[in-house]
Amino acid sequence: MMATTHALAGVFIGTIAWALFPEAGTLPVLAAALGGLFPDFDLYAGHRKTLHFPVYFSILAVPALAIAAWNPTTVSLAIALFLAAAALHSASDVLGGGLELKPWLATSERAVYDHWNGRWLAPKRMIRYDGAPEDLILATSLAVPPVIVFDGTIQFLAIGAVAVSGVYVLLRKPMVAAAEYAVAAMPDHIIDYIPERFVRDLQ
Ligand SMILES: [Zn+2]
Repeated sequence: MMATTHALAGVFIGTIAWALFPEAGTLPVLAAALGGLFPDFDLYAGHRKTLHFPVYFSILAVPALAIAAWNPTTVSLAIALFLAAAALHSASDVLGGGLELKPWLATSERAVYDHWNGRWLAPKRMIRYDGAPEDLILATSLAVPPVIVFDGTIQFLAIGAVAVSGVYVLLRKPMVAAAEYAVAAMPDHIIDYIPERFVRDLQ
């Protein structure tokens, strides 16, 4: 799934929490958006392993949510929603595609790393790949409640995330073709300077 889909999933659960505890304000909703985005900061270093913890984030999120429900403050809700959104992101990556350069070909058996059991979990491909049309439908659906409920920053960010997602979906396959073309056109002595994992799939 797209990073924006994960961020909007965070905003979605943040919106539910805000409906339950409006006195905590909208900061927890933003924390949830950040938590939804956070695991994908490992994109360039051990993607879906370094910052993706489907089990550990979940283990941390459960007591944090219990504390926030018992004592709902801005801080307790922000921490709980950050962890819950990061857990949801890490766990739901299993439902998407694999880690290969062209995930629509469905050749990789690696969706997300399970540190608890020390193995890669296989992709279920309910969302076939990040940037698939069904990914955009999911992202747009998740954006509906926050766009209706909020004015200002959160509404603006949710609409912006859907717009960015739409552009990404249009460019998803052409981007790979362009990268392949660029690598094919590059002289070998330049390719030597690019980390191997960025060019391996492209040659
Ligand atoms: Zn991810």
